[in-house]
Amino acid sequence: MIPFLDLAPATREVRGELDAAIARVLDSGIYILGPEVAAFEERYADYCGVSACIGVANGLDALVLALRAVGVGPGDEVIVPSHTFVATWLAVVHAGATPVPVEPLETTFNMDPARIEAAITPRTRAIVPVHLYGQPADLDPILAIARRFGLKVVEDAAQAQGARYKGRRIGGHGDAAAWSFYPAKNLGALGDAGAVTTNDPEIARQVRLLRNYGSEVRYYNEAVGHNSRLDPIQAAVLSVKLAHLDAWNERRRAVAAAYLDGLRDVLPLPAVPAGMEPVWHLFVVRHPRRDLLKARLEEAGVGTHIHYPVACHQQKAFAAMPVAGADLPIASRLADDVLSLPMGPHLSLDEAARVIAAVRHVLRSPDLADGAAGRDG
Ligand SMILES: *Cc1c(COP(=O)(O)O)cnc(C)c1O
Repeated sequence: MIPFLDLAPATREVRGELDAAIARVLDSGIYILGPEVAAFEERYADYCGVSACIGVANGLDALVLALRAVGVGPGDEVIVPSHTFVATWLAVVHAGATPVPVEPLETTFNMDPARIEAAITPRTRAIVPVHLYGQPADLDPILAIARRFGLKVVEDAAQAQGARYKGRRIGGHGDAAAWSFYPAKNLGALGDAGAVTTNDPEIARQVRLLRNYGSEVRYYNEAVGHNSRLDPIQAAVLSVKLAHLDAWNERRRAVAAAYLDGLRDVLPLPAVPAGMEPVWHLFVVRHPRRDLLKARLEEAGVGTHIHYPVACHQQKAFAAMPVAGADLPIASRLADDVLSLPMGPHLSLDEAARVIAAVRHVLRSPDLADGAAGRDG
């Protein structure tokens, strides 16, 4: 069986370094913020080429705090992709605002910049592009629209650690970028963790306040803050794993290259437009009989996942909001036909070849064959 993702091999590969890093925190006697958090923040800011990184408790909080820090609040509207992980929308609601969805390009799965302007109203305050599946959203046109309408841009970079847009690492293109270090992300902690990166010192200051009860000086509270600090053990773990991130992303690229080459004539595959350097958090294909394809692959020993099976506007959580009745055919269609193949830095090229062979084999069965038109065929 080839699992969709196995996190244990990454831990095994750096186990000695992790043990030493965790022991350092245990021996330090400092268990909230402190030097390990500051050290990771500095390393990750350098890695992203930005002036500030603020460690927080998880990716959802990173989005909420970044939105609040750029001034999003009650009464505001925030433009989000219709096709994304639910946390993007939840963050907008937690910040007191209303999510306004924009449909994606079906070739890249990312927010279609050409559809943004029609979604802007006098109440729009910000845009949240998501670099979904590890591929950068098309930031330049999004930033141009934001400038023209006086909107803030908070990037949801949870799936894009190390990705580049037009040669520059994700993290500082917009006003702020929100990161998740959930264990399965390209840079993953051994539990929950997150961060905000920014080049704006005032936004950095606001996020620092908000993650720590709204307080810069202990017991003096400037804002109604959160308790959302990056845990020092997770910070120490992340510093260890950050040193391996580029090598691990390279291995993901090799797997993606194998899939792109081995499946191009049998399935629609993700497009990588010029200027995008994705990090292949996920490798997502599409098929009109997705559930049957998933079941057949399972029988053939290949584990897959669906990212994501229910479109945000069709989630119960948002049933009371205006978006609940929205007509978002692309998001609805993607929820029905996307399928994520095994992907990760510890998936061998031999395993990737077996995935390719299994996909090609199951697609030959008559009940699946006619739905699987590849880009060439
Ligand atoms: C993982 C993820 C989040 C949320 O991160 P958590 O750390 O799980 O809270 C937000 N947005 C996207 C696109 C994600 O993939």
